[in-house]
Amino acid sequence: MKIIDKKIKKILYYEKNKEYIKEKARKYYYDHIEKCREDRKKWKIKNFEKYKIKYREASRKYYKKNRKLCNEKTRKWYNENKVEEHKHRKIKHEEKKEIVFNHYGNKCVCCGETIKEFFTIDHINNDGAEQKRKYKIYHFYRWIIRNDFPKDLQILCANCNYAKAIYGICPHQQEKK
Ligand SMILES: [Zn+2]
Ligand SMILES: [Zn+2]
Repeated sequence: MKIIDKKIKKILYYEKNKEYIKEKARKYYYDHIEKCREDRKKWKIKNFEKYKIKYREASRKYYKKNRKLCNEKTRKWYNENKVEEHKHRKIKHEEKKEIVFNHYGNKCVCCGETIKEFFTIDHINNDGAEQKRKYKIYHFYRWIIRNDFPKDLQILCANCNYAKAIYGICPHQQEKK
């Protein structure tokens, strides 16, 4: 068989079994999600310099031209994969939280509380409201990691954080004085 015939056969096979192939690929992707994402990341890093400008420009152009279609596609993909995607995002979020809490000592700096569910990230100089608004809580942990764990952050438990916000100083600290 000539190569060209092989190619045509392949295309025909794909066209005929499109839904099945897509479904299979989707299933494979979610069964091996970590590996697939890892592979894609590696590929991107390896080929980043080569394709950076070209890829960025092309995708920007494409998006501008096909904004509606793109948004639709994203929405469709999201709707079809909502459950898995939420699960994945939640895992990633928990991972980031864990990294951040570990870095800041895994306990409330005021009262020593060690139950993670009570932890909040506090701005030592009370200048965090603006930042928190900017990077909603989901992105806040990512922001902390990307910015190399800023030194003006600390862990406070919800109680101590609340007291500090309302009274300016936590009663625990007043007791110590
Ligand atoms: Zn505390
Ligand atoms: Zn306290």
